Order: sequence, then structure tokens, then C-alpha cells
Amino acid sequence: MSQQPFDRINLKPELLENLASLDYISMTPVQQESLPVILAGKDLIAQGKTGSGKTAAFGLGLLQQLDNTSFQVQSLVLCPTRELADQVAQELRRLARQISNVKVLTLCGGMPLGPQIGSLEHGAHIVVGTPGRIEEHLRKGTLRLGRLRTLVLDEADRMLEMGFQEAVDAIVAATPSSRQSLLFSATYPKAIEAIAGRILRQPVRVQVEALH
Ligand code: ADP
Ligand code: MG
Repeated sequence: MSQQPFDRINLKPELLENLASLDYISMTPVQQESLPVILAGKDLIAQGKTGSGKTAAFGLGLLQQLDNTSFQVQSLVLCPTRELADQVAQELRRLARQISNVKVLTLCGGMPLGPQIGSLEHGAHIVVGTPGRIEEHLRKGTLRLGRLRTLVLDEADRMLEMGFQEAVDAIVAATPSSRQSLLFSATYPKAIEAIAGRILRQPVRVQVEALH
């Protein structure tokens, strides 16, 4: 499949300008196949190796759909580790540079709770975090997901390997059933099929090779 430029899909001019300034000229295969599905509001399972550009695939989808007039959490990205959550948040902030007033908040274990609670009081559009800490904020009532539009499970295979299945299920239970759910994974073991069956609704499946 030949690589298509980002302007083939319907993204805000601010996003397209920023992609050009980042030297993101053409879509990677996982972006090319996933973005139209995400922008159509469908659930998605995307499998692609590390480095295939999965973050921008869901990141551009979240930013295109973002309503920055509301400070309720609209998108939640679950990641297996703090390092990965920080990388995802950094990439989302880079992608969002030209959209005004976008708040991306990371909520991970191993960090003090107090400052996270303070940040949550100010509101955020996109939360990126690890399942244990997100579940803890839900239990405390410091995070509410009643207005969530999109749930992303990033590196879902690693989240399951690390024993986060119950935390993920508890988090999903706190989200509206009308949400869009997007699952990204490098591998596709049986356990993913099971969790996908519980969380996703008639997902479109995308499977691609690595970016060379
Ligand atoms: P994955 O999550 O699939 O492992 P990442 O989202 O971390 O991959 O992306 C890998 C690298 O590719 C990052 O450095 C990112 O900035 C870069 N990248 C992503 N999409 C593009 C693109 N369309 N053009 C150029 N570079 C890209
Ligand atoms: Mg990734």
C-alpha cells in the first residue's frame, strides 16, 4: 500500500499545519488504516509492532474530536507503565501544540497523590495513566469518567501481562456505555481477544507491519 499524506483525511487545519512542522509528511500504515475508523466513531483493535506510529494514530483521533470548551475528561489513555504514559502524554502535547487550551494530564502510580488531585480539580481534556492509579482516583471520587467519549487501551498485551485486567475492568465499568473504545497492541494473544470481547463493540480490526 502506498503511503498517503495526512491531508487525505479530514483533520483540522491546526493539526495538519502542526504535523507538517513536525515533519510528519505521510501516514504510517497503522495511521492510514486506523484514523478513518477512529474518525468514524467506530471501535478499533489495531495490532502493530513497536515504532509503527500507534500513538499518533489514536492521538490525532482524540484531538480531532476534542471539545475544548468543556473541562470534563473526554479521553482516557491507559498504559502499562509510567514511562510509557509519559511518552504518550508528551506525544499528545506535541500533536496538540497548535490547538489552544488542550490539557493533557498524566496520572501514574509511584507519584504523590496530592498534586494529581490538585490538577484534577482544575480539569483536563485527556488523561493518560496507569490502571492502578486511575482506579484509585475513581475510588476516591477525585476522577470522574461520566463524560468520557473515548477510551484507549495502549499496549494492551503488556497491561494484561502486568496483571492489570481487574483494574481495567473496574475502570471500564465507570465509563459510559456509549463510549468509543480503541485497543492497541504489539501482539494479539488469546487474553486480548477475551478483554476485547468484554470492552469493544463490533470492533474494526487493523493489522500492519512495522514502519521501516
Ligand atoms: P508505537 O506506539 O507504535 O510503538 P510511536 O507512536 O511511539 O510508535 O511512534 C514511533 C516514532 O515514530 C515516534 O518517534 C513518532 O514521533 C514517529 N512517528 C509517528 N508517526 C509518524 C509519521 N507519520 N511520520 C513520521 N514520524 C512519525
Ligand atoms: Mg506505543
